[in-house]
Amino acid sequence: MIPERLEFLQSPDLPPAQLIELFSDAGEQLYLVGGSVRDAFLERPVEDFDFATSARPERVAHILERWADVVYEVGAAFGTIAARKDGRTVEITTFRDEVYRDDTRKPQVTFSDDIETDLSRRDFTANAIALTLPSLDAVDPYDGLVDLAARTLRTPLHPEVSFGDDPLRMLRLFRFQATLGFDPDSTAVAAVEAMGQRLEIVSAERIRDELTKLLLAPAPGDALRSLVASGLAERFIPELPGLAMEQDPNQRHKDVLEHTFAVVDKTTPDLVLRLAALLHDVGKPDTREFGPDGVSFHHHEVVGARMARKRLRALRYPKEVVEDVAELVHLHLRPHTLKLGWSDSAVRRYVRDAGALLGRLNELVRSDVTTASPRREGAIQRRIDELEERIAELSEREELDRMRPPIDGHQVMDYLGIGPGPRVGEVLELLLERRIEEGPYPPAAAYAMAREWAIEAGLPDPGPPPGTEEE
Ligand code: ATP
Ligand code: MG
Repeated sequence: MIPERLEFLQSPDLPPAQLIELFSDAGEQLYLVGGSVRDAFLERPVEDFDFATSARPERVAHILERWADVVYEVGAAFGTIAARKDGRTVEITTFRDEVYRDDTRKPQVTFSDDIETDLSRRDFTANAIALTLPSLDAVDPYDGLVDLAARTLRTPLHPEVSFGDDPLRMLRLFRFQATLGFDPDSTAVAAVEAMGQRLEIVSAERIRDELTKLLLAPAPGDALRSLVASGLAERFIPELPGLAMEQDPNQRHKDVLEHTFAVVDKTTPDLVLRLAALLHDVGKPDTREFGPDGVSFHHHEVVGARMARKRLRALRYPKEVVEDVAELVHLHLRPHTLKLGWSDSAVRRYVRDAGALLGRLNELVRSDVTTASPRREGAIQRRIDELEERIAELSEREELDRMRPPIDGHQVMDYLGIGPGPRVGEVLELLLERRIEEGPYPPAAAYAMAREWAIEAGLPDPGPPPGTEEE
């Protein structure tokens, strides 16, 4: 009797049923394992299928050639062949045994002939359940089903052994705490506390990918708190534990670290936005000053943007992600500096500076409000409401998202008789500045400004602007 929630796994349209035929014809064992089994038991959507097999990687690749749309052999050295078929990803890994890793970044994999050994080398018991195919009987030597029911993350072997084999598993512990909402077992947490520095041998790319998955969980705050408390965050994102500043004597500001977790939880799970939420206040410890009026963090957004950029580069995030996050950190205080209401020019400048990040910036600013005082909360949210209304209002009257001067660089060059170069940029900057200050204005006024600029710069008077000279 197959549990009802697993029945879909037998569908002839899905990879398990299709692949078991191919593998048994080849005389090889094939099991469904890992996240797909776990998620099926949890009744979570299963999109990717993980398999374990007795077949060696070359053999797996050969079998998949006949079935898949594309086969990826990049992971073959570690035993994994991946493939895509009908929009789904499958990963088939040869049964593994020891993973040797003498402080080098590259693991040495040896293969095994049985599923039990393979399961013992997996990260957590909940991920170490195999299902036979096509009958779907559970192979569960480490009581993964018990831990699934208890919602616990436990390593199949002693955690020191598991984490020693692959220190990335320490980060995966908190990643799964975030994505599954499971609790890490206390012995596993103790092992992380004791051996966190082993994470140093793991590549930045692998760390980045786990951090990304952690941050895209519905509410990663609790997992982030555990990550910091365990000491592991210190190993790859020290800015975060750095936020645990002692309270200032007047209690004027909240614990910045707790505030950060709350802000992350409030934002929608978008990588750029979540990274910005995580890092938005990292400039605070370095800019903190105690003055007669209490504590201040002058220019923490500038310092923080620089720190965020540096950290995200070190974690090998793509350039666009790094720049977008740094820009959001840089701009996150902007609406608060405009307490006296929004002039048209202030709205234009805000829209111009935020550019494509406008929606995320507004959301970050809103999420940044974690005050316990409903009155203060309401006041700040109203300020952002007002800002958004003003943006909408102004967009109806003028093209806010494509603000540019009424004449372009070619027209400036033709008129002034100068070639391309920084001088053209200087004039355009001036013209754009007026566009932001005053809103749309006619080309003739722009030519007049260019003429004034030329005369002041000692260039020959270009004469009356085109279109205004007398015929
Ligand atoms: P997700 O739903 O996020 O994909 P997953 O459990 O499928 O989660 P993957 O990273 O896709 O996680 O890995 C698939 C399976 O391979 C895991 O369930 C686990 O059994 C095993 N695994 C992956 N990475 C490791 C690792 N570093 N150490 C041990 N086992 C691992
Ligand atoms: Mg997976």
